[in-house]
Amino acid sequence: MTKYIFVTGGVLSSVGKGITTASIGLLLKSRGYSVTAIKIDPYLNVDAGTMNPYMHGEVFVTEDGGETDLDLGHYERFLDINLSKRNNITAGQVYLEVIQRERRGDYLGQTVQVIPHITDEIKSRIREVAKGSGTDIVLVEIGGTVGDIEGLPFLEAIRQMRLEEGYENTMFIHVALAPVLSTTGEQKTKPVQHSVQELRRIGIQPDAIIARSPRPLEDEPRRKIALYANLPPEAVFSNPDVEVIYEVPLVLEKQGLGSYIAKRLRLEDKEPDLSAWIDFIERVKRADKKVRIGMVGKYTKLKDSYISIIEAVRHAAAALRVKPILNWYEATQIEQGKLNPIKPVEENDAVIVLPGFGRRGAEGKIEVIKNVIEYKKPFLGICFGMQLAVVTIARHLAGMESANSTEIDPNTPYPVIDLLEDQRFVDRLGGTMRLGAAPIMLISNTLVHKVYNGAEIIYERHRHRYEVNPKYLDKLVASGMVVSGYSLDRGLVEFIELRDHPFFVGSQPHPEFHSRPMKPAPLFKALLRAAQGIPPAE
Ligand code: GLN
Repeated sequence: MTKYIFVTGGVLSSVGKGITTASIGLLLKSRGYSVTAIKIDPYLNVDAGTMNPYMHGEVFVTEDGGETDLDLGHYERFLDINLSKRNNITAGQVYLEVIQRERRGDYLGQTVQVIPHITDEIKSRIREVAKGSGTDIVLVEIGGTVGDIEGLPFLEAIRQMRLEEGYENTMFIHVALAPVLSTTGEQKTKPVQHSVQELRRIGIQPDAIIARSPRPLEDEPRRKIALYANLPPEAVFSNPDVEVIYEVPLVLEKQGLGSYIAKRLRLEDKEPDLSAWIDFIERVKRADKKVRIGMVGKYTKLKDSYISIIEAVRHAAAALRVKPILNWYEATQIEQGKLNPIKPVEENDAVIVLPGFGRRGAEGKIEVIKNVIEYKKPFLGICFGMQLAVVTIARHLAGMESANSTEIDPNTPYPVIDLLEDQRFVDRLGGTMRLGAAPIMLISNTLVHKVYNGAEIIYERHRHRYEVNPKYLDKLVASGMVVSGYSLDRGLVEFIELRDHPFFVGSQPHPEFHSRPMKPAPLFKALLRAAQGIPPAE
């Protein structure tokens, strides 16, 4: 029998429900159970691909090319598993499916309604993931907060699942904020009480509460929350702010959450093995040798826009026992002359030019890359960052003065980056990029080949419409650029480097999506090595 754990949120969104869900998964995984996780997003977009990073944070790309919510990234990193696009269910997908079915005449004669048609579709999608993954436990996190109008059909669906799957196979965990008043320093529980009441009003009695708060939950507030939630105090857990997000599972384990869940779901409560995880956190906390990384992008005000890259840097740093200092540079400011493009180079040991779309900030990034080349600063350009590295090489080393990507200047005389052939006739924006993992053939005797430990074929995930234009490759190579990897199927340029430079790598795919706490992505590790002046590959 599959066991389902449903995680709802109260009071505010962005209180760390995704990390809490991922942490619960780790506690069960470390007890020897297999786990998968689903994120439900009640918005009407079909997927996160069409949303601005400022609204939604990073778009996390799955192995099978889903453009999903960033929480899937937390699940993959904490649980060290690959998820599918099916693990992100949105209201958009559910309604689209039901309405298309209605148009086909599949419901002929019936009135199509939220209950049962939408709720049935929700349950069927959750169960499909359960069946497909075959795991012991399926975590289902409902995005947003209890009380949101859009979220109601999803809460109704999980309420029904309790009835259908049985009490012993379902558990409701409510994560809510217990704020601390800045004036009196008091820990307040009223918002939690209200959100639990709202949950019970729609027929869901939580089995446990996890109170997010700046500091550990005190006894009196715990007792109060328990009373109002109709629970014993042992069912109320505290999830205070921590220094490193990877500590959350340990904080919860210490309070007995893992055993509590096992007992509640009638699972044998085995001794959890968290030793490697604890080791990892020790390494993160002990590291004191600083390595400074200049992060150049255009969504730098919201760090969630680049969360997988930030985590990838942290994983690599932990492996090398160094402390990463991330300094952020807004490319638009450089372009407008408000920020000197030498700064990211001067103030750091390495520079990352981040992924992106569109014209804004592009010239600023190119200016930075020009300085990176001149001062031989270790550099990693990811996706758009790689494409702009090629533009910079074209302009400043290969003599193609106004070279550009046609994404930025459709009339450039040297379109060194151009639309992928199969993108030319695409007229819809959702889910139409080159997406997901694909095999890449690495070229011997290149730096990237060494960094990937001499592997001939590797897999990385993609999300792009433009590519290096093969027409200009000869000229670029003659000026010092090296192509270090091609896509196996179509011969697209996947990695480039520069010959006379200690570490200059452009990556068309996104290596950050494969990085895990204890399995850092090779390119990030190599960059951090180069940043310390040691050879990037052993
Ligand atoms: N805008 C570029 C493209 O579509 C790069 C995309 C990205 O950085 N993810 O090819």
